Amino acid sequence: MCLGIEGTAHTFGVGIFDGEKILSNVKDAYVPKKGSGIHPAEAAEHHRNVAKRVFDEALEKAGMTIKEVDYIAYSKGPGLPPCLKAVADFVKILPEKGIIEVNHPVAHIEIAKFITGAKDPVVIYVSGGNTQIIAYAAGRYRVFGETGDIPIGNAIDVFIREADGRQPGGPVLEDLAELSEKNYIELPYVVKGMDLSFSGIVTAALSKYKKDKKQLNNLCFSFQETCYAMLTEVTERAMAHTGKTELLLTGGVAASKRLREMLSIMAQERGGRAFFCPLEYCGDNGTMIGVAGYLAAKSGQKPVKKSQVDFNSKWRVDEVEVLWV
Ligand code: AMP
Ligand code: MG
Repeated sequence: MCLGIEGTAHTFGVGIFDGEKILSNVKDAYVPKKGSGIHPAEAAEHHRNVAKRVFDEALEKAGMTIKEVDYIAYSKGPGLPPCLKAVADFVKILPEKGIIEVNHPVAHIEIAKFITGAKDPVVIYVSGGNTQIIAYAAGRYRVFGETGDIPIGNAIDVFIREADGRQPGGPVLEDLAELSEKNYIELPYVVKGMDLSFSGIVTAALSKYKKDKKQLNNLCFSFQETCYAMLTEVTERAMAHTGKTELLLTGGVAASKRLREMLSIMAQERGGRAFFCPLEYCGDNGTMIGVAGYLAAKSGQKPVKKSQVDFNSKWRVDEVEVLWV
């Protein structure tokens, strides 16, 4: 029985996994003030305020007490340092259990695999804070491609915040693109080798918007076409390179219908299969930490003592030895 705690960015979540079933998934997200992005200290303060309530609710929903929990897994990183510290501090005041350190992107991958049944996919992890194309090879999840500057979700949010004002940007971008005449306006397509870059696209789209505000819908359409084609290209190359036939989309940007469509077509054309993590488990949540913690504990990852509980804001997914695959 593994209880997982997440809190690397805006969401504080607790979930419980018994090795076969998800018993609960409770979360509470910090919402930035209107017109601004995430403020790390405020997000951390939010986590400290809701932690106990979310934790109690997760146990209650699972119909159990902390006595029945064997392991407590927590997101050690990567993430925003004040948020990670809030999580680590919370773990230290909980009853003594085997404590399992979990890498946040590994947890995204494991819960998406668990829920969709994908076995050995190329993972497209696209969120407000991350953009990576990841696949398992020789004992680790290797990063085959990633953003060299800002994550795709952040690019979308910045563009929409400046041009439209609403947040989060993703659903607005999608709606406006839907309303457009689907006239493609040229934007920089930036794929270098396996790496992607989105900040130039934001700058170009905003400058075109300022010159002709009536083009916003077509710019949203073009923004989607450009960014999602870049992601699809790099994913296809990762599949070709690794010989893998499955792809698995996760992270908040996985809500995008157009991205799903492009990836589906690509997978189909290659004779492969596309898996999409359901939205409840795409965004940050505690259950994913519980699932990854369970797998790690079961495969022999050593629990740490309370005095050793700390965080690593720069802990990359490919630094983790994956013992359970
Ligand atoms: P996360 O960081 O995983 O919580 O995901 C949040 C990100 O997902 C934000 O940047 C949102 O703008 C983005 N997002 C949400 N819905 C959509 C959508 N339909 N299309 C594109 N991006 C989306
Ligand atoms: Mg995440």
